[in-house]
Amino acid sequence: MFDITGKKPLVTGGSRGIGRGIAVCLAKQGAEVAVNYRSNAEEAERVVREVRDLGRETFMVQADVSKKEEVIRMFGEIRDHWGKLDILVNNAGILRMASFEEIKEEDWDAVLDTNLKGQYLCAQEAIKLMGSGSKIINISSIASGGVGMGSSHITHYVASKGGVVALTEGMAVDLAPKGINVNVIAPGLIETDMTQSFLADEKVKAGFLAKIPKGRAGKPEDIGAAAAFLASNEADY
Ligand code: NAP
Repeated sequence: MFDITGKKPLVTGGSRGIGRGIAVCLAKQGAEVAVNYRSNAEEAERVVREVRDLGRETFMVQADVSKKEEVIRMFGEIRDHWGKLDILVNNAGILRMASFEEIKEEDWDAVLDTNLKGQYLCAQEAIKLMGSGSKIINISSIASGGVGMGSSHITHYVASKGGVVALTEGMAVDLAPKGINVNVIAPGLIETDMTQSFLADEKVKAGFLAKIPKGRAGKPEDIGAAAAFLASNEADY
């Protein structure tokens, strides 16, 4: 089940956290993996070594997904390397915290440009290298509005992640005739660098855990497993 042997995915923000978990899970299921990162080459190298240890071909590609020219260059590198792309995991994301009254325009722009515009930019370049049977997996969040899980001080983040759900729906409809499936994963609280500051504060952590029926945060591998399913032929419909 969920065999993706020889498939060629790009995982944006694949150097740490959930992206790392997804890259490793895809490799375990047989895929070769391109690992995108923005600034932390050392972490990306660690993921590349981990994937290589699984016996899969892999390489890293630097690009800030919010910058069109960098995205175009990144997909050019993938075209030169593989000549095609089977799976795009739009995972790169940032979180900036502030009460609504205090959100600075530069932070609004950074969050929306990375989390939402970045997915649009990457998907538009990715489909030029894709054919029927390809998959796009967008990472949203349980904090995307409309699910009664409101959290304070992250309005711009929630707006970006709600946008990802809407983006996914539109892309899924427009790309289905080309045989490209587009899905979204909305993780709950996962232990990563992004959530380290909440989880380090016992009071804040207890508040979060009280909302989670399982009473604990998830791990990046939990999301990796869901992504491996959506990347596979079993998720063709
Ligand atoms: P993380 O640990 O902070 O890792 C973020 C990753 O994204 C890093 O690899 C980082 O690369 C990369 N990145 C950030 N900005 C980028 C940019 N402009 N261009 C390219 N790469 C960029 O975060 P995470 O917790 O794994 O989150 C991954 C995704 O899951 C995000 O979209 C996040 O919103 C979503 N999510 C997380 C949770 C959670 O509880 N952790 C819950 C729901 C959804 P560098 O290190 O090189 O900067």
